[in-house]
Amino acid sequence: MTYFIDVILPIPLEKLFTYSITPSEADFLKAGMRVAVPFGKSKIYTGIVYNIHTEAPIVYEAKAIDQILDESPVVNAIQLNLWQWIASYYMCTLGDVMRAALPNAFILESETIIVLNPDKIINDDDLKDDEFLVYEALQHQSSLKIHDISNILDKKTVLPVIKRLIDKEAILIEEEVYEKYKPKLVRYVKLHAQFTSERALQNLLEELSRAPKQSQVVLSLFSISAKTKKPVKVSDLSNESDASASIIKTLIDKGVLEEYFIQTDRVQYSGEENEASKHLNIFQETALSEIKESFNDQAVVLLHGVTSSGKTEIYVKLIEEALAKNKQVLYLLPEIALTTQLVTRLQNYFGEQVAVFHSKYSSQERVEVWNNVLENKNKAQIVLGARSSVFLPFNHLGLIIVDEEHEQSFKQFDPAPRYHARDTAIVLANLHEANTLLGSATPSLESYYNAQQNKYGFVEINTRYNNVLMPDIELVDIKDKHKRKLMKGHFSDRLIEEMMEALKEGNQIILFQNRRGFSPIVECNTCGISPQCPNCDVSLTYHQYKDQLRCHYCGYHTAMIKTCSACGSIELDSKGFGTEQIEEEVKLLFPDYKAARMDLDTTRGKYGYEKIITAFEQQEVDILVGTQMLTKGLDFRNVKLVGIMNADNMLNFPDFRAHERSFQLMLQVSGRAGRTDKRGKVLIQTYNPEHRILQQVSTNNYIEMYNEQMNDRYNYKYPPVYKQIKITLKHKDYNRVEAGSQWMAKSLRQVFGDAILGPESPPIARIRNQFHKNILIKIPKKQSLVKTKEAIIKINNSFSSIKDFRSVKVILNVDNF
Ligand code: ADP
Ligand code: ZN
Ligand code: ZN
Repeated sequence: MTYFIDVILPIPLEKLFTYSITPSEADFLKAGMRVAVPFGKSKIYTGIVYNIHTEAPIVYEAKAIDQILDESPVVNAIQLNLWQWIASYYMCTLGDVMRAALPNAFILESETIIVLNPDKIINDDDLKDDEFLVYEALQHQSSLKIHDISNILDKKTVLPVIKRLIDKEAILIEEEVYEKYKPKLVRYVKLHAQFTSERALQNLLEELSRAPKQSQVVLSLFSISAKTKKPVKVSDLSNESDASASIIKTLIDKGVLEEYFIQTDRVQYSGEENEASKHLNIFQETALSEIKESFNDQAVVLLHGVTSSGKTEIYVKLIEEALAKNKQVLYLLPEIALTTQLVTRLQNYFGEQVAVFHSKYSSQERVEVWNNVLENKNKAQIVLGARSSVFLPFNHLGLIIVDEEHEQSFKQFDPAPRYHARDTAIVLANLHEANTLLGSATPSLESYYNAQQNKYGFVEINTRYNNVLMPDIELVDIKDKHKRKLMKGHFSDRLIEEMMEALKEGNQIILFQNRRGFSPIVECNTCGISPQCPNCDVSLTYHQYKDQLRCHYCGYHTAMIKTCSACGSIELDSKGFGTEQIEEEVKLLFPDYKAARMDLDTTRGKYGYEKIITAFEQQEVDILVGTQMLTKGLDFRNVKLVGIMNADNMLNFPDFRAHERSFQLMLQVSGRAGRTDKRGKVLIQTYNPEHRILQQVSTNNYIEMYNEQMNDRYNYKYPPVYKQIKITLKHKDYNRVEAGSQWMAKSLRQVFGDAILGPESPPIARIRNQFHKNILIKIPKKQSLVKTKEAIIKINNSFSSIKDFRSVKVILNVDNF
């Protein structure tokens, strides 16, 4: 008997690849293990075994695998099912899914670059001969492509040798080294355990009585750490106690203080006793029991709870119950909401059982979490993670929480798989027979619709925790000429007045503007021309700080022009405004207060936003200006006022979801106001205060918004009433993409008739020198997508077999919103 395996390779080709194996390999191999396989003339790949069988492929002769890489599966059967679902639902290949799902260090291939691990000294005797060859080669050459190692070793053994070296930590893949040395280490100290009792502390202070500076340090430390119960940053301590670094060093040397280093970008468990979870109030208690009851006959429940209603505390109770049943929990949230604020909050309850999984973590860190989940370690019973954590190897998942379920960032746009993490999570939960709780103060129309159709259970909380009132939302008309005269820059007199008052009372302010930069359009007063990106069909945004014009689509930038490039005029005007301009105006209007800005430009790099959030939290900043980053579930104690600088450009965005999104954004950012005792105030500046959405925001009327928006969705055949697949064609030559998209649309129309819209050029028709054309397919939600997709794939195959179109890139995006 000859045995074969079908293997998933990390490449965007439709099929599985069949290899032959020996009978003894067949005995050993299981689906989900990795194998090293030859491919084409000279490539080698890591593949995942999909299944084992005895049917020889018909059209080609199966090659033998090179080696088996694992002793046991790294991917389980449920994951393979999920991958299959993703590939077919989102119309991509299993290889695409494999790439997204596995940590990079798991996918060794010809192109992978390896380097020595600079942190590990390896004794030559610990290496086998073949390992030594590679190790030695790396000492001469700082990095090597795996492909090149085929010259040193028998090709068949390359990947296993590399894998062993990685397991021994002798080498790393290049990406890891880069990441390893990126993070900054921050020095922390805490009082040595022997001094923490009151008595010991007393003695210590007596001992130090002749060294007042040293005892001041100890006292300061005690006052900070008693407040925060956390280790203290040396920089904070020296500020608080006015002590120099050398005094702190003396105390460390004496053994009074213990020092250690924490990577700023990695959330660490501080090792304290766990706190008991909070006692729920009556509204939370009711919601919790309704959720549990719903779970009796619904796999998915939507929790619609206003901002600050205490949803997180309800999640905590559900997590406790899942853990008590020995189940794993996945807690999904948008990347940017994954802040230390929340991590610490959960770690206080669940200690080291909480693992954090972040796409910005290094490959090594991700491998660590992966293995902990795979081995069902106590350390990873609760995974708190962004989008990609749906790919972890859970084996007995009991509960998935999707917080802020309305968030657009759960959908991956590029590259494939273009999956929606919320919807994928629901499928994953079903595979585990687990429950899913979707939570939001402003649910997506999709989820609310599903709840109304009884596909999901539904639970509501309409009161904020502690009966704090919902913020008072006032619309400020800035169209009125008289009122415009009173404006200072982009600030109405009402906004300035409220800001004054809030600041005087010692409260903090958030100002929201959904554009970054200084001004999005620079225009010549003489000829009306504005500078455009050379690579994209879009105006360049002026960034004052660097005195540059920048493209927000491709990153192109150039020095600010002094004269119009078309007519030479020096009268240049700027139109529109971004966060940078608002920050500058704030500084002029309120010179005695501290302002900061949180947007993509100020938060680049890993966890850049963490710093700003902490500064705001600790009230080192009075006024925080920012983009939608500000809206993501942050819990600030002292914010009294929220100003939305301009509601209109959000509302006018050319997208069928613009109204829904504006509603969500405005209510979410409003929800940052008055979360404790004082009632918050929100001012929304607009040219159009009668706009239905603004009316609905100001009265917090979700239902009315929902009904009206759904009406439009019915009338214009949009999701959630219809399903939508977007086909995007891209090419650097406009004529080719035009011809290609015409051909494609025509062929699709022959099958789907008027379910096809387009081809159309999107609002920004060229990005990075690629012209885009979109074709939309709308299908009634009840209709199965299977046949539709089959037809699309067939047409797409004929398309790419036409010589002229071969170089046109086709992107299929299912549920493109
Ligand atoms: P949401 O997630 O709905 O916006 P949170 O869970 O963040 O609301 O709760 C808002 C605030 O109220 C938080 O500071 C939280 O600690 C507090 N809180 C919520 N529920 C309770 C409770 N049962 N006991 C004490 N404090 C609570
Ligand atoms: Zn001009
Ligand atoms: Zn550009």
